[in-house]
Amino acid sequence: MREVVIIGGGPAGATAARYLSKFKVKNILIQRDLNFKKPCGGGIRIDAFKEFDLDKKVIKKIINEIEIFHKKRKISIDISQNPIAIVERREFDAYLRELAKKEGSEVIEAVFLDLKIFKDYILIKIKREGKIEHLKASHLIAADGVNSKIRKIVNKDRVDSNLTRYADISRNLNTCQFHFGSKIAGRFYAWAFPHTKGSNIGTVNGEKYFENFLKSLKINENIKVKGYKIPNFKNPLFYKDRVFFTGDSGGFVLPFTYEGIYYAMESGKMAAEILGKNGSPFEYEEMWKKKNLNKFKTLSLLQKIFLYNDFTIKFMTNLFANPKIQKEIIKLWLGKREVKINLNFFYKVIKESLK
Ligand SMILES: Cc1cc2nc3c(=O)[nH]c(=O)nc-3n(C[C@H](O)[C@H](O)[C@H](O)COP(=O)(O)OP(=O)(O)OC[C@H]3O[C@@H](n4cnc5c(N)ncnc54)[C@H](O)[C@@H]3O)c2cc1C
Repeated sequence: MREVVIIGGGPAGATAARYLSKFKVKNILIQRDLNFKKPCGGGIRIDAFKEFDLDKKVIKKIINEIEIFHKKRKISIDISQNPIAIVERREFDAYLRELAKKEGSEVIEAVFLDLKIFKDYILIKIKREGKIEHLKASHLIAADGVNSKIRKIVNKDRVDSNLTRYADISRNLNTCQFHFGSKIAGRFYAWAFPHTKGSNIGTVNGEKYFENFLKSLKINENIKVKGYKIPNFKNPLFYKDRVFFTGDSGGFVLPFTYEGIYYAMESGKMAAEILGKNGSPFEYEEMWKKKNLNKFKTLSLLQKIFLYNDFTIKFMTNLFANPKIQKEIIKLWLGKREVKINLNFFYKVIKESLK
């Protein structure tokens, strides 16, 4: 019997496979298309490379400055203490799968079709090279993304999500731009991120936002607009009936910033650690919540408050202009976990902003 089957070879699945192999747990990673390029800005906090022992050679660009835009106002923020690394997702995902293979994981191109859960094992139906196969495993790791089929079968629900609209443009940028405002982004942000060639721009929800964003950027070139869902942190799912849910399939994308790659890798590693150490599967949820819940809830709350309307966005941009507050918010943004956002934090923020 194969010990663990992982469905989905993105950051969550590839990282889970790699760490399972490090723990000497036999595993097989099933990826639908080994050439797949996930629609994504490819921005990752650079400290993730150290945490997951990744080679920086896959980084295409390093961004030391972010820019916040609201109407005519622009605020530049220096993030050189922990820059954002831009990766190309086809290459990055392939690199992560290669690391898993090197550790001993079996990686195959096949499509997950169905599963059946039994008392002591799980039976997984896949299609490889046109032929149906059944794999027997002690556990399954769902890493099949925001449209998770496993989640539909096991939990009979879907990951709560928003539809993004995005496109590649030829304009070159040296900063990651976050654009706010009711006309172009509603209660989200619109982004313009440097990419391997040119830039990637996008908006979340609302058909009009993308058009308005293009106008505000004065982009006249012919572009191909695509759409892809991004999870909301509304109905996270950790473990059920021998299945661990990781990355987008669990709904683990940080609210407000929409950072998902890091949390996909982190959750994949956590699930692997629990399985590798023979822990109780329910420890997975505990471990994740201990590390992330406060931050996820806080950013969700900040998004609701700050992005309520143009007035609150203006208030937020005023705060971002204050270097002390900038430092605190950036610390939280970049994942320094010691930042506690509570009533006391808001009191300090408001006091600072009134100085
Ligand atoms: C437009 C856009 C921009 C984004 N920009 C950023 C960003 O700049 N930074 C950031 O951190 N996050 C960003 N995100 C979020 C990020 O892309 C995701 O959170 C991250 O990719 C989640 O990783 P994952 O491994 O869980 O899922 P995915 O990366 O979606 O991987 C799932 C994999 O499963 C495979 N699969 C699916 N179904 C099956 C099946 N039935 N059988 C076999 N294989 C299957 C897919 O082919 C895919 O390779 C962005 C998202 C969008 C939509």
